[in-house]
Amino acid sequence: MTLLTRFDKYVPSASEAAYAQDFRDWDIVHHKAKIAGVYVEMEEVGEWGETWVKIGQLKAYPDKRRFAIHLRRGANWEDLRHIYGAIDLIRAGSWGAIPWDTNTSQRDGTYYYTTLLRPSSNRARDRRDEPVYPCAEKRCAEYQSVHLVARDLGQTEDDIEHHSMDQLRGPDDRWLISLTRREDGPWEVSVETSDILTPSLVASLVNDLQWMRREAETLNAEGRADTVHGRGNA
Ligand SMILES: [Zn+2]
Repeated sequence: MTLLTRFDKYVPSASEAAYAQDFRDWDIVHHKAKIAGVYVEMEEVGEWGETWVKIGQLKAYPDKRRFAIHLRRGANWEDLRHIYGAIDLIRAGSWGAIPWDTNTSQRDGTYYYTTLLRPSSNRARDRRDEPVYPCAEKRCAEYQSVHLVARDLGQTEDDIEHHSMDQLRGPDDRWLISLTRREDGPWEVSVETSDILTPSLVASLVNDLQWMRREAETLNAEGRADTVHGRGNA
């Protein structure tokens, strides 16, 4: 497990720093938390009994040249920023500061992983403490990034709304039609318009809405096919 405050005091050797050049072009991807029960949690470690918070895992896949971030549920914006900070330190030569565990999976080949910890006292002062939710929806504009959970609007990590990259705007932005879906729900059509429309613009809006309706139906049919197909592999 990696204590983030100690990690950034590591001084890499010249050869470690040179070797780390290789990490510069590795991809960074987000893994959706697969185990519903894996929440951020406090843990007492260290000789003074200080408390630390497990915020997630960082995985490195040398064969895919990829870092994968596996956030725990409840991890916030600044936790994520710390994980990106850890990747920056690795890219600057601090690979050796991390007590990596090695794992071999048949599907992915060998990978390394470590659980990242932050001091709880430091985390309590986070300004941006709204949880973030990793996006694994391929059609979403935030795919492989994260959604902010709008707690003030009553949102939870279970009712995240994915917005498709496919949007239709009317002339002079008179309307905006988007495809959205809640986690595990079907694609739906959202429309915003604040204008009074001429009859010919209404015809054009209806046309755009029909287009998006067909898009949503197609995606939902594909989604159902994926689910049926997925059952055999599960
Ligand atoms: Zn999304």
